[in-house]
This record gives sequence, C-alpha cells and structure tokens, in this order.
Amino acid sequence: MSLNHVRPWRDIYRRKSRQIMVGNVPVGGDAPIAVQTMTNTLTTDVAATVAQVQAAAEAGADIVRVSVPDEASSKALKEIVRESPLPIVADIHFHYRRGIEAAEAGAACLRINPGNIGDEARVKEVIKAARDHNCSIRIGVNAGSLEKHLLEKYGEPCPEAMVESGLEHIRILQDNDFHEFKISVKASDVFLSAAAYQGIAEATDAPIHLGITEAGGLVSGTIKSAIGLGNLLWMGIGDTIRVSLSADPVEEVKVGFEILKSLGLRHRGVNIISCPSCARQGFDVIKTVETLEHRLEHIKTPMSLSIIGCVVNGPGEALMTDVGFTGGGAGSGMVYLAGKASHKMSNEQMIDHIVEQVEKKAAELEAAAEAAE
Ligand code: SF4
Repeated sequence: MSLNHVRPWRDIYRRKSRQIMVGNVPVGGDAPIAVQTMTNTLTTDVAATVAQVQAAAEAGADIVRVSVPDEASSKALKEIVRESPLPIVADIHFHYRRGIEAAEAGAACLRINPGNIGDEARVKEVIKAARDHNCSIRIGVNAGSLEKHLLEKYGEPCPEAMVESGLEHIRILQDNDFHEFKISVKASDVFLSAAAYQGIAEATDAPIHLGITEAGGLVSGTIKSAIGLGNLLWMGIGDTIRVSLSADPVEEVKVGFEILKSLGLRHRGVNIISCPSCARQGFDVIKTVETLEHRLEHIKTPMSLSIIGCVVNGPGEALMTDVGFTGGGAGSGMVYLAGKASHKMSNEQMIDHIVEQVEKKAAELEAAAEAAE
C-alpha cells in the first residue's frame, strides 16, 4: 500500500508476492517497484554497452538487461558485468548454452523464453547454472513466441495460452527446487497483456515483471505503456517494470519513473506540475517548463514544483507544492515556497531563481533525511 492512506482514494493495494533478489536489488514483496531498461548496443561492443548502462543508472534505472545472442556476447558480458553499476539481466533466446555462459559470466538474472529455450532437459541445465552462480531467473513469456503446442491448442496467442506457458515453466523450476524466479507475460496488445497479467497474478505468488512488448516509438509507446502498465499497477500488480520503446534506453527509464510517479508508487526528482498555458499566461509556460526540465535533471530528491501561467490555478496548485511560480502580468510573477506566497520575481530572472530555490529545497530535504537516519 502507498503512504497515501490519509486520502483513501489514492491507495493502491499491492498484490502480495514473494521477494527475490536480482543482484543486490530486491524484487517483489514490499520492495519498491524496480525500473528496468535494456541496452540496444552490440553486446560485443563493451564500451558502448557499459556507457548505456551508466546512462540508464544515472537516469534512475535499478536493473539493466543485455541481450546475449552469441558466444562472443557471453564473453563480453563478463566485462560488462564487472564495469556495470547495476545488476545485469542476460536476455536469452533459442540457445540454452548462452544461459549457462551468462550465469558463468556473472549475470544477476537470466531471462529465458519458454517459447524457444528448448525442452525440459535444457531448462534443467540452465537452472543448475543459475543456482551455481547465484542467479535469479525471469520466465519471460511473450505472445509473439509461444510454444507450438499451445498455439495449436488455443488457435492463437490468448491470455490462457500465455498463463499456461508461464505456469508450465514455473513447474519446471519448482520441480528442480528453484524458487528465485519472477515472471512476465508480455504482448504488444494492451488488452491481451493486461488479461494475461491478471491471470498469472492470480495463479502464482512469484514477483511479476511488467511490460507491454514492442510498444512503439517514444510518444505512442509511452501512451500504450502508461495505459497497460498503469492499469495493472493501479490494480496492485507488478514488482518491476520495463517500458519498451523504440527509443534511447534513458527515455524508457524516464517514462517508467513517470508512470510510477503518477501513481505515487515511486518518487524521484522534481515532479513539475504545469498548466498547458493559454492567452492568460503571464510568461511563456511551455518554454519555461522545457528549460526547467532540463536544468533540474540533476535533482534526485523527490519534490514538487508548480509552474502555472496565471492566477486562475497558480495559487491553488502552489499550495500543494514545495516551490511554485505563478504568472501575474506586468513582466513578473509570484514565487511560492512551501505553499505560501513568498516574493515577486521578474520573468527574465525567474528560471535561474527557480533553479536556485529548487536546489536549496533539495539540499534541505537531503539534510533532513540524513539527520533522520
Ligand atoms: S492556469 Fe492560467 S495560463 Fe494556465 S491554462 Fe489555466 S488559465 Fe491559462
């Protein structure tokens, strides 16, 4: 449950799941919902891949997945793991041997696809490698690569087929006394994904990795993911998320955090509340917000900032934010601190001034948090 129970209409009751570890990151139980992304460099290009992992870490990612399509990638993975600030999940398809090599290379988790990993004997070997090297496993069911016998049984990818695929692989892991696993049942169709996730959430207490696969470009994929993942998270389903975008992994991390922030499930950095602007605006709201988003990227402390064009909504929004600015006409506006009108500021100096105020507030909040520890 979130900390919002003074306002019960904001409560989200998270499904109770077991907790596993992906490296040093707990997933499931009462752990914060972890944000993941995936590199899109050649894994054999260690420098480029590590740079992407570092950029994702800087943006707030908790876990990063790296594809391991061939033996050379397994070798590169070892170096990537050594230099990565985050636990690395190795993405395995088709070749169970890549799973074994990735475990040996130090991957924190192996993502295996039940639709293409091969028969039970092969999965057993992957389980053994995972156990020997302290790896967790993600059973990554995907509507686009379901097992042949399930497609024959159900006629097409459907929620029941996806759940059955996931449960079959859970059984294999459990039969081998392996319990450090999470599961995903992704589809590019929001309805199919949501139904499959609800089915699997009822059928197991394993932690759930949420994602809408192949969601699309930055804008369309963000919307699709926000609807699909947003609904599931709101229902309390999901212990770790990955937003799949045809875009820079850093964008995936940002979108993932924004989805979680919108639901009050994670907090990070400055949450800017801004109006769309209209003829009443006392300053250029859109340009100002764009500039502030960029200039405040370095702030990690959760806090809120309202940037509102005029007094219609400005004072009301400022009441609920740490720092606020409301346009007032005549080339200046009102700065609000901790919900109260504080002082006037000219539009020209306002951006530098707001950045200063936010940095000051962040430093105060960090000092208070340190003192409380
Ligand atoms: S707050 Fe004011 S400037 Fe912003 S959209 Fe509303 S009326 Fe327009």
